[in-house]
Amino acid sequence: MSHGRDTVAGLSVAGADWLAQPATRRIFATLSQGGHQVRAVGGAVRNTLLGQGVGDIDFATTARPEQVVELAERAGLKVVPTGLQHGTVTIVSDGHPHEVTTLRRDVETYGRHAKVAFTDDWAADARRRDFTMNALYADADGTVFDPLGGAGDLQARRVRFIGDAGARIREDYLRILRFFRFNAVYGTPPFDTEGLAACVRERAGLAALSAERVHAELMRLLKAEGALPALEAMFDWGLLVDVLGGVAYLERFRRLLAIEAAGALPSSAVRRLAALAVVVAEDIDRLTGRLRLSNAERRGLVCASRYRAASLPAEEAGARCALYRLGPDCFEDAVLLAWAEAGAGPDDPAWRRFLELPQRWQAPRFPLSGADIVGLGVASGPDVGRVLRTVEEAWISAGFAGDKDSLMAHARTCLDTD
Ligand code: ATP
Ligand code: MG
Repeated sequence: MSHGRDTVAGLSVAGADWLAQPATRRIFATLSQGGHQVRAVGGAVRNTLLGQGVGDIDFATTARPEQVVELAERAGLKVVPTGLQHGTVTIVSDGHPHEVTTLRRDVETYGRHAKVAFTDDWAADARRRDFTMNALYADADGTVFDPLGGAGDLQARRVRFIGDAGARIREDYLRILRFFRFNAVYGTPPFDTEGLAACVRERAGLAALSAERVHAELMRLLKAEGALPALEAMFDWGLLVDVLGGVAYLERFRRLLAIEAAGALPSSAVRRLAALAVVVAEDIDRLTGRLRLSNAERRGLVCASRYRAASLPAEEAGARCALYRLGPDCFEDAVLLAWAEAGAGPDDPAWRRFLELPQRWQAPRFPLSGADIVGLGVASGPDVGRVLRTVEEAWISAGFAGDKDSLMAHARTCLDTD
């Protein structure tokens, strides 16, 4: 049994907020009973060492899954047997779910049936993980264990496969996308050549991945600070078109990122996807099917593309029309994409002013409704909408001038001329 003494990295996460939280302390305390070892693993340790925010806290333990369940229940913690057959149990502590996974080692896979073998060997558990920077562990007092040299790679911002990159990819082709996603979030170019070469060699395996898994990785990649170099590498090596199922517009994507950066705007994966991959409506349909986009994501692509071909309005009035028609939620995405497409620089003051219109002007609500038109004696049906639209268009052209009475008067004149 390895106690990991030889893999102490001389590093500590002792000061981390999450380590001091009662929810975390309870998990450590509960699972340590009966002599089991328990350590935090993965993102929490990695991100703390980088000085970045931490999301969920995952745990690894020498306790067998049924022992984890028993200890947690005895401590009065809620247990959800999420992936019991893979050794994962979710413990709800202080209302937050924590995944606890029994140490595992890789065993031969026979056909499609992978056998899970539990172990007490921390180094063996580390070797079945994907990248060295994800195989970092921390015990209850914050001491970091690093069986595979992940801390050095993390410091160098090097995303490195554990073991033979090609073999690891063939076990799970999602690791190709994870390689680029982790590079986008944590890496710095040039990317690990061995990993990159293996991704290129094994790229045919991407086709077998489920849309949901590809979707999740791609959206996280797009949102990341280092999305551009990661996508450039995917493009240069012929992987990007495979993932998108169509052409990638990297230049427009690059310009969007420059505009976002100049304005310190939060990144949006959907807007970035629109910049990268949407030119015509069919692109949206294809991406929706291929990546199983949610309705909200699909709407986001439609929004971002609404204004795409339009140029910068010469007058504030034109900008107001755009804001009125698109609505405030759509407006920002649509303008940003139009700006990126137009090729104007990220510091262009006219485009910036256009983008910031919602901060100085709020679109009014059109004062008439269908009921008003029906009240004039128009039978419910398409005629109502026609009259409404005519009056609305005139109202927009007049700079949203006119109150309800004057608009009703206009509506009456429409009826007279019918
Ligand atoms: P995040 O901050 O995104 O949660 P994370 O590293 O904790 O980052 P998880 O998806 O929570 O990511 O996975 C926890 C750990 O499980 C990873 O750090 C990695 O060690 C391992 N892991 C996850 N997915 C894979 C995979 N496809 N192949 C191998 N190991 C994986
Ligand atoms: Mg995690």
